Formats: sequence, C-alpha cells, structure tokens
Amino acid sequence: MHTRVDIRRNDQVKVITGRDKGKQGRVLRVFPNEGKVLVEHVMVVKKNVRPNPQRNIKGGIAEQESPLSISNVMIVCPSCGPSRIGHQEQGSRRVRICRRCNAPLDK
Ligand SMILES: [Zn+2]
Repeated sequence: MHTRVDIRRNDQVKVITGRDKGKQGRVLRVFPNEGKVLVEHVMVVKKNVRPNPQRNIKGGIAEQESPLSISNVMIVCPSCGPSRIGHQEQGSRRVRICRRCNAPLDK
C-alpha cells in the first residue's frame, strides 16, 4: 500500500463517503497495512454473540464497529471542521496541521 497514513488513534474524523457518510467519530484503531481505520460508532454491525457463562458473557446481539478505508474519512480540524492534513516542521519535529487554517492537529 502506498497510502500515507496520516490518521492516528484518537483523531476526530468524518466519513465522507459510503454507508455512514456524514458521521463523525473518534479513531479507535489504525490498520496501516490495510489502509483502514476503526471509527467509534461508524460502520457498526450487529453480531450474534453466543453466551459464555465462564467468561460472564451473555448471549444476544452485540454491536461492533468494522474498519473502513482511510480514503473514506477526513480529519476534523477543531477550529474549522473536516479538512485535509498538511505538515509543518517544528524544530526537529514534523507536526500535522490543518491545511485550511494551519491550526496544529497534534497536541
Ligand atoms: Zn482548520
């Protein structure tokens, strides 16, 4: 994969295409090799769970997020909303900035 992964865990992202278009959430996990991200409350699928009394698991239907392609999400800039990621050198550090308002995206 040649997709540069600029999305990181705990980023706020917005879904720009697909089933959950328009939804926004926090990145729970990044899968750089697959070019995918797992986003909280996005691409939720219902899963049947078998009861397992030993592990104190009740049977039923559980909801779980499934990964979606990184190209389907945009980072959400805290000041101006969904945006593209730019970069800036700060000393020896390379930080991510919002390409629209130049606000830093890394704390
Ligand atoms: Zn911005």
